[in-house]
This record gives sequence, C-alpha cells and structure tokens, in this order.
Amino acid sequence: MRHTGIYAIGLLFLFSTGFLDTARARQETSNDSNNADATIRRLIRAVDSERISKHLFYLSKDPLPYRKLNLTLPGHEKNTLYEADDYLASELEAWGYHVGREGVQVQAFRRDPNKPEHAQYSPPKPEDPWYTAYNLYAERKGRSAPGRIIVVLAHKDSQSWIDSPGANDNAIGTVGVLEMARVLAEYTSESTIRFLFCNEEHTPWTSKTAAQKAKSRGDNIVAVFNMDGIGAKTAEETAAGKKTNVTAYTKPEGKYLAKLMGEVNARYSIGLEQRTAKRPRPGDDDGSFVLAGYPAAVINIGSFPYGDPNYHAGGDIPETCDTENAAMTVQATLAAVVTIDRDL
Ligand SMILES: [Zn+2]
Repeated sequence: MRHTGIYAIGLLFLFSTGFLDTARARQETSNDSNNADATIRRLIRAVDSERISKHLFYLSKDPLPYRKLNLTLPGHEKNTLYEADDYLASELEAWGYHVGREGVQVQAFRRDPNKPEHAQYSPPKPEDPWYTAYNLYAERKGRSAPGRIIVVLAHKDSQSWIDSPGANDNAIGTVGVLEMARVLAEYTSESTIRFLFCNEEHTPWTSKTAAQKAKSRGDNIVAVFNMDGIGAKTAEETAAGKKTNVTAYTKPEGKYLAKLMGEVNARYSIGLEQRTAKRPRPGDDDGSFVLAGYPAAVINIGSFPYGDPNYHAGGDIPETCDTENAAMTVQATLAAVVTIDRDL
C-alpha cells in the first residue's frame, strides 16, 4: 500500500508538472504573439510620411531631377544615378547599416518616338556606351535564423530613354524601402531582412543579376516584396481620395504573401483598399526572382494594371505622388515582413 501511495503521488507529480509545462508553453506562445503584435504596432507607428516626402523630392526634383547613368548635371562629377546611390548609402549608413555594392554592366535604352508615349524605350545598339550600374544592399542579420532571408526591394533608377523624374516609377518605392530600413534598424529580427535597391530602366535589369547570384550562392529566400509605384493609381481614384494597394503574385507560393498583406491591413487597421492580382507571367523585379527560382515573390503597386496617367512620361513628378498612400503601403509591408520574420 505504501508503495502504491508513493507511486500515486509520483504520478500525480508527473501529471501536475506536465500540466504546468503545457500551461506555461501556452502562456509563452500567447505572450510571444502579444509581444509580436505590440512590436508590429510600434513599428507601424514609426513610419513617417514626411520623411518619405523629403526623400522623394530629393531624389526626383531637387537636387536630383533624374536618376540615370547617361545624365550628369552641369558642374557635377558623377551621373545622377550615382548621386542617388550616394544619397541612399549615406542615409543607410547613418542608421548603422553596412552598404554593399554589386556592379552590373548595362546600357541606356534608346528612344523610339514612333511608339506610344508610355512605351518609347527601344533596345540599345551594341556600339552604345556601357555603364556600371550598382545594386545596393543593406541587411538586418537574423538572430536565430540568419540563413532564412526576406528581401524587400525597389528599382531606384529613372527612365534612361527620356527625361522623366520617375517619381511614381519608382522614386516612391525606393524611398518606401528606405523608410522600412530606417524603422527596422531598431528591430532585432529572427530572420535576415535584406534591402535591395536595383535598376530596371536601363538594360539588362540589375535585379536579374541579384536574383541569379542569390540562387547560385544557395540563399534561402523565403519572401520577396517588390515596391514599385506604391500609391500610384488612376486620376479618378486619386480624385476620389482612394488609398490603394495591389499585391500581385505570379506563382502559388506568392499567393500567401498577397493574402497576408490583406490580413495585416485588416488586423492593424491600416486602411488600404487592398487587393490581390495574379500576374499572367513573371514581370518587373519580383519577376527576376521568380525566374531565378524564388516563387514567393510579389509586387506591391498602387494599381494593376498600372493606372498612373504620367507613366513613363515627363509629368511623372513628385507633386503627383500620394505619399500618405505610400506610407500606408509601407506600414502594411512592414507588418507582413515582421509577421513572416516571427513565423519560424
Ligand atoms: Zn518603368
């Protein structure tokens, strides 16, 4: 009897500690998700549309009206794209990032005035000049899973075949990624968050090199968010005060990212009119990653098909950008990135 009694007490002890462990684990899980939620809310609040606007005007009006390899301002030593690179790098370095540069040989597009206004780019001739365009990289190294990589990218160059400030296409996405990098400089991530500033208005696109090199290194990229034309929409939508974002995916693996953008927009009451769309084929800089074998790649864009009336024209000026809308898109993307980061 005595033995049985001790045995029973032992069993009771085992059960009760098991129960406590389970309860503690449940408590920790809920603390973790509460902490993650509080962290995301804090990061969202830190997004600053005035900073977005300041960077936007710097890169698409004054002092830099363009960002192209084939245009150097009078009296300046560097072309306008290199000057933009220096500006982005100095901001990133001020927040503690190391900035990596990856050179890619490119040419400017020629202009064909016989084509429709929005599509006057035409291939360069072999004898046209070659330039080195740079991909700029900045990273938050992950604490517990540094090999797991989330990429947030934007093309930073303006149209090489015309004189357009390229404000909506794509100074606005560039400064959106810059603002994400600033806000996340204070955040300890579990995974690695990689910011990439690439070039897509010269040829070939430098995002292709970035994606192919990542693949050949064996980088485990679990998500790619391309920020291009964020907040840019039709004149009617702008006049109606709409705040829109479309998350377009190419492959089924990208669909969950598009769904997640909708979920975080609702959960954190960001207020975007958030839609998803399926691309018929890989496109833009997210497409470069899809083609390199990273199917979980999406674009965040204000309208799809793209509705900006000044697309690829001289009228694509910063005054027409909806920086409030862009800031909301940055908030939602930030929330999605941190959710993926914590979802190990
Ligand atoms: Zn473009």
